[in-house]
Amino acid sequence: MSEATRPHILVVEDDPAVRNLVTTALGLHGYDVEKAETGELAIMEAASRNPDLIMLDLGLPDIDGVEVIAKIRSWSAVPIIVISARIEDSDKIGALDAGADDYLTKPFSVEELLARVRASLRRSGMAGTDAVEASTFDNGPLHIDFAAGCASVAGRELQLTPTEYKLLALLAKNVGKVLTHTFITHEIWGTSWDSDIASLRVFMRTLRKKVEADPAHPQLIQTHVGVGYRMQRL
Ligand code: CA
Repeated sequence: MSEATRPHILVVEDDPAVRNLVTTALGLHGYDVEKAETGELAIMEAASRNPDLIMLDLGLPDIDGVEVIAKIRSWSAVPIIVISARIEDSDKIGALDAGADDYLTKPFSVEELLARVRASLRRSGMAGTDAVEASTFDNGPLHIDFAAGCASVAGRELQLTPTEYKLLALLAKNVGKVLTHTFITHEIWGTSWDSDIASLRVFMRTLRKKVEADPAHPQLIQTHVGVGYRMQRL
């Protein structure tokens, strides 16, 4: 990677051990790394250096990580991967709903860290070239024609209900991103009652039967237990 094309990553973490692990791993793999130890510094660095990606610990000494995400999101679409030691799903969900793209739960492996970083950068690179919204989408055997409102798998047209189609299109437009139950039900029904989330599970089951080769072992649409769903880039 030449200097000019090295992706620039801002690592926000107050725990020196985790901060060193993450920055060293990223540095060794050709990324340009910037560090911040507090939420306030993170917001300043994000504004002044315009990073290509932010890795953000949720438990910061000054400002809550979720608030940092909301602040940065008010002016920037930079991908944000949350690093969280918290086991409660509600923290991850809050962060994803505030605009984070993905999350890593401590402890994580360097391989997992690098895979998430690559996926986020790949996705944002694609988002950059797709300034005019693409009218079709291809991912492995899946093809969606947004203009025609239809989808096929391996050339076989899918018979989808309007809700199944909306759900598939929403996941496709956010391929690689974890979408929370709340986000999805808001996009589809405008509400997110417990009953909507129960309906979502039912629609997801029927959708998977149609799009997955083996619905018991889904390849395309991954479940994040207690959090939501993600369409994998195949
Ligand atoms: Ca922390």
